[in-house]
Amino acid sequence: MCDGDECPECGESAVDNLVWDDDGELVTCQFCGYTYTPAPLLSDADLAAEREAERATDDAVERALAIKAEIDAEADEQTKADPRLDNVVNHRFCYWH
Ligand SMILES: [Zn+2]
Repeated sequence: MCDGDECPECGESAVDNLVWDDDGELVTCQFCGYTYTPAPLLSDADLAAEREAERATDDAVERALAIKAEIDAEADEQTKADPRLDNVVNHRFCYWH
């Protein structure tokens, strides 16, 4: 018995006092006699959707890291290119003076 399956009438949550009916859809509380449908367990489809959502989040993080790495790489290239740009500027500076 999972959390959320406790008796809505009296709040009994001891597994020993909550008995599943033969059809497996209803639970009878032995404490107060209330019969109810417990919170449905996650179906396989729900679990799959949950895993998919987790994977989508992981993918988003991975993409963000990849983009950041790309930006860092571009920044490195720009840093390397800077001296050359300085030379060009210096040459022009000399040319005009
Ligand atoms: Zn009860």
